[in-house]
Amino acid sequence: MCYAGPPVSEIVQQKRLTSEKADRFTESVIREMTRQAMLYGAVNLAQGFPDFAGPEEVKEAARAAISADINQYAITWGAKKLRDAIARQMKLWQGLDVDPETEITVCCGSTEAMISAMLAVTNPGDEVVIFEPFYENYGPDAILSGAGPRFVKLRPSGRSADPEPVEGSSDSGEWCFDPDELRAAFNAHTKAIILNTPNNPTGKVFTREELEFIRDLCVEWNVLALTDEIYEHILYDGAKHLSIATLDGMRERTVTINGMSKTYSVTGWRVGWAVAPAHLTSAIRKVHDFLTVGAAAPLQEAGAVALSLPESYYQKLAADYRQRRDCLLAGLRASGFRCFVPRGAYYIMTNIAAFLPRYGADDLAFTQHLVKETGVAVVPGSSFYNDPRDGAGQVRFAFCKQLPTLEEAARRLARLRAP
Ligand code: GLN
Repeated sequence: MCYAGPPVSEIVQQKRLTSEKADRFTESVIREMTRQAMLYGAVNLAQGFPDFAGPEEVKEAARAAISADINQYAITWGAKKLRDAIARQMKLWQGLDVDPETEITVCCGSTEAMISAMLAVTNPGDEVVIFEPFYENYGPDAILSGAGPRFVKLRPSGRSADPEPVEGSSDSGEWCFDPDELRAAFNAHTKAIILNTPNNPTGKVFTREELEFIRDLCVEWNVLALTDEIYEHILYDGAKHLSIATLDGMRERTVTINGMSKTYSVTGWRVGWAVAPAHLTSAIRKVHDFLTVGAAAPLQEAGAVALSLPESYYQKLAADYRQRRDCLLAGLRASGFRCFVPRGAYYIMTNIAAFLPRYGADDLAFTQHLVKETGVAVVPGSSFYNDPRDGAGQVRFAFCKQLPTLEEAARRLARLRAP
């Protein structure tokens, strides 16, 4: 059969064949940097995935599930064993009573959990409050769901907030929001606030006091909290993770998102979940069902095993990450980066003022220099801000890597000469 219509290029000109929504955002810069790392043979400290194996018993459980022919669709909102394990762990870790029959939706990663939640609760014209810098996905999530984002800045307090490099300084204060600015972002159109604690990219762990302030605004304006807690177990220096769902008045208005990726080092499995009261869960389940039907059935079985690992697993996870953080911090400081020391998650945001303009005019040019000439892939700071200029002086390093990988990155970065 042969196509007899006008040339395709003419049709494309007459009619835009891609959606306005898709035209409003770019491909993920984080994932693009992984492709560049492969292209240039750079050490990949860009995309946040471990270069080490997940727990043997979890991998074995996945193999066993495939052999036992758990290879057809799981129940669309998640295998019962996994939902039961999630409910048990929510009780153990946060003291929350969750009904696995009506309050949990297992999704293809926390990424799908977030977009399903956004699509399930927002209408065009609704507004969503997002702290910035923010994990890249939340921008497109807002566009796809038709909600208008309202960005509220997290600003580093202390010496590291100085725009000029401070000699010998690479220590940070905390990233904080201005309570008045946050209050001003809430109005009658606000439908939800997106939280991410421990936070990507800043490493901030929201305190009880901060979460209570956010709670008060949510209750006052009848607003939901969509909270991404995927780094729940990756904490340093005595930091404690608190789920906003545990605060008085929030249980009924919170969607708590988590997953296997970071806690069990299986980012490629794409198993995450959303925990929310039944009236929200039924909307999330419908959206999830028609988006993806379900997450991989055998990997959900392995998820139930993962969530039954003993306490010592989580202690070792945090201790190992502490070592990796300190290793990369030392390397970055020695090379002249000013670091915002994370209290959770596995990223270090850095101030790159010392390297500009010598190695590039901004974060994008510096990132290109790093990946092509220095041999280290990072994520440009602008990827985490609505206005790229706000991130022009920052880049993010991921340290979910083996110590030899981090040491090799440090050796390469030592070639940079900060004045
Ligand atoms: N969360 C990780 C990061 O920020 C990976 C994101 C992804 O590619 N899904 O790098």
